[in-house]
Amino acid sequence: MRILRAAHLGMCFGVRDAIALALDQADAGPLTILGDLVHNPSVLSALEAKGIAVAHDVAHVTTPTVMVTALGTSDRTLARTRALGLTVVEATCPLVRVAHRAVAALAREGYHVVIVGQRDHVEVRGLTGDLDRFDVVLNEDDVLALDEHPRIGVAAQTTQAIEKVRHLVDVIRRRFPHSDVRFLDTVCKPTKERQSAAVEMARQADVVIVVGGRSSNNTRELVKTCKRYCVRVHHVQTDADVSPEWFDAAQVVGLTAGTSTPDEVIDRVEARLRTIEWQRASAARMASK
Ligand code: SF4
Repeated sequence: MRILRAAHLGMCFGVRDAIALALDQADAGPLTILGDLVHNPSVLSALEAKGIAVAHDVAHVTTPTVMVTALGTSDRTLARTRALGLTVVEATCPLVRVAHRAVAALAREGYHVVIVGQRDHVEVRGLTGDLDRFDVVLNEDDVLALDEHPRIGVAAQTTQAIEKVRHLVDVIRRRFPHSDVRFLDTVCKPTKERQSAAVEMARQADVVIVVGGRSSNNTRELVKTCKRYCVRVHHVQTDADVSPEWFDAAQVVGLTAGTSTPDEVIDRVEARLRTIEWQRASAARMASK
């Protein structure tokens, strides 16, 4: 059984920098993170071990300093938080900021903003939080429910699969042939790299393991992408989730991971695959004696 790691996988610079900033700030004084810094249980327990609190509502913050996550937030929310007398540290990823600027530019130029993404996702709430009118679409049914506007400006949650985003932009263009539909590609480079590397890997694999938090959007997108090229795809959070029976008759096992998955977690999953491979080889040797 050969293990094939995707050429690009795992934690992106945006998440890495946000974690480093949180750990630095925690050394300087008590800190509360607004929302999950990343959607990964291993990282969240490491932060908890440092005494960093997590609050999902600013009303529940009890420390003088709060951190906005890599996923960003709206200017309105920032202003509301500062008005409460809290010091705000922003760990917003620069590529999320690019998406914010794109959305602001579309709105400024008179486009009705449509975001391709998950309506309740923190990043999408941040992208739309300064707009009075907007729509969020995730599939063709959502596009069918859109109203017509003379100018429609489309941007995407940074972790959406670019093929899906482009497809939905085409559907919007076909549905509103008389509208000026402008698309600004805000899917981030690390997401694109992980998606295309996952395709390359899944094409060659008999089984694919995708490592990442259950609620991580980009991990779930990787699972969907891999399923288009390989029928045996498993989403695991840690090495403990890996089952030996998944690999019956598998020659090549592909491995990829979402942008919030730490290297150690990926390495432990790979080590578990190697142990399973070793156990299988030993059992085969014993049977042939
Ligand atoms: S997935 Fe992309 S946008 Fe999100 S934190 Fe990572 S690099 Fe930034």
